[in-house]
Amino acid sequence: MPHFTEFAKSLGKETHTDPGLYGVYPRSVYRTNGGFVYMADNGAEDVLVVCNAEGFTGERADGALLAPLTHANACALRGLFPFTAPAKILSRDRTFGAGDRLGIAAPGHLRVFENCAVTPVLAQQSVRELNLTNRTFEDIVDAAAFAVFRAGYERGFGADGDHLKTMPEIQSALDAGCSMITIDCSDHIKTPREVAPDAGTERFYLNKVFHVEDEEIRFTAKDLDESRAIYSDAIEFIREVHGTFFSGAYRRPAELEISIDETQEATTPQQHFFVASELRRLGVDFATLAPRFIGEFQKGVDYIGDTDAFERDFRVHAAIAGHFGYKLSIHSGSDKFSIFPVIAKYAGTKFHLKTAGTSWLEAMRVVSVSDPGLYRDVHRFALESFAGARKYYHVSAEASNIPSLDSLGDTELPSLFDISDARQLIHITYGFILNDPELRPRLFGLWRRERQAYSDALYAHIGRHVEQVTGTPLRTGKE
Ligand code: ZN
Repeated sequence: MPHFTEFAKSLGKETHTDPGLYGVYPRSVYRTNGGFVYMADNGAEDVLVVCNAEGFTGERADGALLAPLTHANACALRGLFPFTAPAKILSRDRTFGAGDRLGIAAPGHLRVFENCAVTPVLAQQSVRELNLTNRTFEDIVDAAAFAVFRAGYERGFGADGDHLKTMPEIQSALDAGCSMITIDCSDHIKTPREVAPDAGTERFYLNKVFHVEDEEIRFTAKDLDESRAIYSDAIEFIREVHGTFFSGAYRRPAELEISIDETQEATTPQQHFFVASELRRLGVDFATLAPRFIGEFQKGVDYIGDTDAFERDFRVHAAIAGHFGYKLSIHSGSDKFSIFPVIAKYAGTKFHLKTAGTSWLEAMRVVSVSDPGLYRDVHRFALESFAGARKYYHVSAEASNIPSLDSLGDTELPSLFDISDARQLIHITYGFILNDPELRPRLFGLWRRERQAYSDALYAHIGRHVEQVTGTPLRTGKE
């Protein structure tokens, strides 16, 4: 009989028992109407222990029900404890997308978010990420539910169907309980071309000064023509999505983010203003918008570009968002330490920052520290997969800039994660690595054993992101 079912008996007694002694997660102990539910460490995996609560399925043991972390039990948990379901949180100040590709990062993420005034979006995946990791929207929403229950985190979290391009993708994210969707308009954003004159928009935009907070926006005829040429189809697509899922009788309990960031060219202030203003004129309300800022936002490394120029650009975008009353969303926010102070200065509390890959990189850093042999195998495999992975990601990394494994002693392996080229190598090959039948079980076995080390690494690293983008130190961390 597992040790932790003993704890169930002690719950009925008057003497206070330390749940930690039984392998029970102390903050997961919840009483219900006449019963209780808690989560315990069952060795290779965690399990719910349920007594006198409806809806769970599992095995009877020692007078309690041992309910595995399945989708059905996640549904039961959400029914009983609404704080374990995603909530609409984008209207809150300071929100942070902490994507969890592996489904094991949330415990570390939650230690950060219970120590700061920032609300997390714990589940946040694009369809591409789901395909590369063999997961579904249900999987990621369920992983977040179990994590918040385990941590007793009741302040609410979001779930983001990220970078969705089609109606069926949006439908499946919403059906799985995502509390926000991010519409990726890139298939509808066109290159500049000739457009026929349009008296209505010309009357609205030309020969005017739009005062947005402390900034002024003026349109030349060329600005307007380009804005119409590039974004008109995207605006129509957004209107269609909004009409289908976010208005009328079938309105979903979810929030909308507009992403126009997946483009080569930066979004000009006029273009940003035009998109927001047209959507407002069409009655489309949305909570956040992600423009394409100047400079480069490559995965897993700091901002590449002139930070003074970024500051001048960001200031105007922040003013436009503030003027219309939505939050600015900053994508590929992992490790952009040199510009976090600029975000804090001009967006204030009105930002949504998305990260994802950096939590995966921290997981691999833990591998390099705790199992150098496994890390070497992964690294070699990543080098072989690099050319294939580059087709999907724009990165400047060159394999020739990465020190050869043979030149590094075991204790030097973690230093690879301080080199941009090596970070990007591991960053963009995650799908290849996780789909390898030999590496995958070894990696997940190690991450289970080293879960405290991974949680500590995330607390430090995501904590640093949060401290810099809020300008406020975390309160003392606790597990
Ligand atoms: Zn994006």
